[in-house]
Amino acid sequence: MTTSPNIVLIFVDDMGYADIGSFGSPIARTPNLDRLALEGQKWTSFYAPASVCTPSRAGLLTGRYAVRSGMAGLVHARHVLFPTSLGGLPQSEVTIAELLQQKGYVSAALGKWHLGHLPEFLPTSQGFESYYGIPYSNDMNMPGGNETPWALENFFAPPDIETWDVPLMQDEEILERPANQFTLSKRYTEHAIQFMKESHEAGKPFFLYLAHNMPHTPLFTSEAFDGVSAGGAYGDVIEEIDWSVGEIIAALKDMDIDDNTLVVFTSDNGPWLTMKTHSGSAGRFRDGKGTTWEGGMRVPAIFWWPGKVQPRTVTGLGSALDLMPTFAGISGTVLPDDRIYDGVDLSPTLFADSDSPRDTLYFYRFTDIFAVRKGRYKAHFSVYGAFGGDGRTDLNEPELYDLESDPGEQYNIAAEHPDIVAELKALAETQAASVKPVVNQLELYPEGQKRGEDETRPWNEKTEDE
Ligand code: MG
Repeated sequence: MTTSPNIVLIFVDDMGYADIGSFGSPIARTPNLDRLALEGQKWTSFYAPASVCTPSRAGLLTGRYAVRSGMAGLVHARHVLFPTSLGGLPQSEVTIAELLQQKGYVSAALGKWHLGHLPEFLPTSQGFESYYGIPYSNDMNMPGGNETPWALENFFAPPDIETWDVPLMQDEEILERPANQFTLSKRYTEHAIQFMKESHEAGKPFFLYLAHNMPHTPLFTSEAFDGVSAGGAYGDVIEEIDWSVGEIIAALKDMDIDDNTLVVFTSDNGPWLTMKTHSGSAGRFRDGKGTTWEGGMRVPAIFWWPGKVQPRTVTGLGSALDLMPTFAGISGTVLPDDRIYDGVDLSPTLFADSDSPRDTLYFYRFTDIFAVRKGRYKAHFSVYGAFGGDGRTDLNEPELYDLESDPGEQYNIAAEHPDIVAELKALAETQAASVKPVVNQLELYPEGQKRGEDETRPWNEKTEDE
């Protein structure tokens, strides 16, 4: 293995499984991502660690389900961090950036953070040398603060940066407020290229964590991408992200370090279907963001490293939880042995012909396991959102789906396979028992604030009294 390869992790927000051309999008042209998928590995059963932003990102950057770090919300409470939150990813957690410090990597975080906006939780306190981005979601801080009734109309009006009073930060300082969201994707790309060049010139291996705010609503593009797609505002945003990917690959080639750089592209959760024409698509997978159906957590994933990653389509299971152990493997760093990791090193699949080493996945919602997938089968014990209307429903009888013959989770076969249901239930119980109680970071906010405000407010308000 090459010594200390560079790592570029491009993490997009709320992009659905079928929002890239090569994953089935009929509306957006994504030639750069399509080329990476063809030249590298396209994973078709790759999952986000959670179906909403904060716990997904905690899982990504620590290799551990968010329930272990206190970064998973409680039901009828906050599901993600908010601008008034007092919590964040605890210092006791080890991030990918901190892991890579063992081998002298320099790391930059760009874009959405959402793991705590107070100084002790920002990227510069979590192993990253620099940060440039919005510390939480780009739809937060509407006028009047977070007590403002959540209005879908705001999102469909002509884009106006004043509607969302979100800060753009450089390290721990606010550079701009409200952030000019029109130019975010463009500016993140420019900063990414500058960081890669500076690191390369300094002779240091680098880890670039580029977490685009888009395509999370409100949707903004730079002028060059306004109206270019056949898919409205959402398609335009996807085409600008694809442009950004192309610029980054071009910069790697210019510096002649493309053959020493692993590039990974994936999404933090499925499409936010509540946003109607401004949401993405999970294709044939059921439902979207906020749910533990496939559409909420199965996301597009591409691995690219010329000459190293074997070009093919992988149908075996993978998770963003696996990225940290995989990066440890390729960088020759060692994961701490004092804690449980939920990820596995995917290197045997990336670099050779092996099947994926992962065969089981847990679908957390809040701090509970709502579903388990092992091989082709997935059992649901609780559901949220899509099923039977709103809110959380604990199923009296678990449901079982065969994802190979029924990827859309339409035909419940639990009655025919009680043995498989029992096996998956036992797995969930063992996994749940492995989690030690910790402080819930999402429950830390000023006294007197209401609990039920979160990204899924339309559902949550209806279910507050349940
Ligand atoms: Mg998201």
